[in-house]
Amino acid sequence: MVSAKINHNTKLIGVVGHPIKHSLSPLMQNLAFALRKLNYIYVPFDIPADRLEDAIKGMLALGIRGFNITIPHKEKIIQYLEDVSEEAGVIGAVNTVVNENGYLQGHNTDAYGVIKTLEPYKEKITGANVSIIGAGGAARSVLFSLIRHFKVSSINIINRTVARAEHLKDYFSAKMHFPNIQTYELMPPDIVDVLRNSKLVVNTTSIGMYPNTDDTPTNFENSFYSGQIVFDVIYNPLKTKFLELAESQGAVTVNGLRMFIEQGAKSFELWTSQEMDVDEVYKKLTEELSRT
Ligand code: NAP
Repeated sequence: MVSAKINHNTKLIGVVGHPIKHSLSPLMQNLAFALRKLNYIYVPFDIPADRLEDAIKGMLALGIRGFNITIPHKEKIIQYLEDVSEEAGVIGAVNTVVNENGYLQGHNTDAYGVIKTLEPYKEKITGANVSIIGAGGAARSVLFSLIRHFKVSSINIINRTVARAEHLKDYFSAKMHFPNIQTYELMPPDIVDVLRNSKLVVNTTSIGMYPNTDDTPTNFENSFYSGQIVFDVIYNPLKTKFLELAESQGAVTVNGLRMFIEQGAKSFELWTSQEMDVDEVYKKLTEELSRT
């Protein structure tokens, strides 16, 4: 679906990544432009790591209004930008770029998506001990949000590659002056007690994402308890095996769709100065994902 008749006034937005074919962002943003009757179009660009600089020069020459930036470019893009927002600077990654007449500004809207998603549980999370599974880009946004916005007391980072977890610990301890981070290897059942002692558990890995829907970071029911909050940043499928298991133990489960839409809504606002129709987009994407 595209918003309007494409003509000389149409503003172009893109998403730059590699690979890019599974991205739902074109569907979401084009739907959102259509709902607001905006003359914008959103297009995916599959750009390998060694062509990023060329791609940016090309976008500037074409006068593209902005773009999302995803794996593997979220960190490398920073060197090509004139300016990055405070939160993108702290997180160390950019997912949204705005082109203001040739002046490229970088933002990170993933943290906003995390905050909007976990806001209903703020009272429970504030001051709590929490666990994050994964140590990649999504983990960075979650760490930032939990330290800055939810003011958690301690964080466990659990990752397959412990060195990456250690790196995040050192980075955030220094950058956000938050010393209470422990690291663990993702090795169930050894981590069961760590998970069970956490008021909030967040999966930020791609384990369990379509098409590998039988995978889960932990297969052990006693990782969870009734009333615990368990958030999976994955949104395809809407209910991962990880969330299914947590739900079976009475945990409150949250999937990644709200985060995905809210980060997109913030990007939409940065490009268009308008608010996305989040409720309608949520309804349509839920329908779409329930079909697959
Ligand atoms: P990333 O930077 O590549 O990090 C991937 C993480 O997953 C790493 O911690 C990696 O562990 C771990 N991992 C991957 N495969 C694994 C496996 N088979 N076994 C154990 N660990 C594994 O990726 P990312 O940008 O953080 O994205 C991660 C997930 O978050 C993706 O599913 C993505 O779609 C989702 N996401 C969702 C949203 C949203 O809005 N809902 C936003 C951003 C990302 P190692 O360090 O050991 O490699």
